[in-house]
Amino acid sequence: MKLIEEVGELAEVIRKNKRMTDDNIKGTIEEELSDVLYYTAMVANTYDIDLENVFRMKEKYNSKRYGFNIKIDE
Ligand SMILES: [Mg+2]
Repeated sequence: MKLIEEVGELAEVIRKNKRMTDDNIKGTIEEELSDVLYYTAMVANTYDIDLENVFRMKEKYNSKRYGFNIKIDE
């Protein structure tokens, strides 16, 4: 549930276009994006999911299904 809360916070700072200035990350897109990534990793760990592996599998699936070829490594 914390992940959902963080996605909501990310949506809000994106809507307000709050970007990080200097080293002040509080209340910014950068902070909330980091929070979402953190809780995504926590959920993956809870279910013993290799996030990198499933991400690459989904990337391949999307490439076939939607015909685009954007790779995270590029
Ligand atoms: Mg947050």
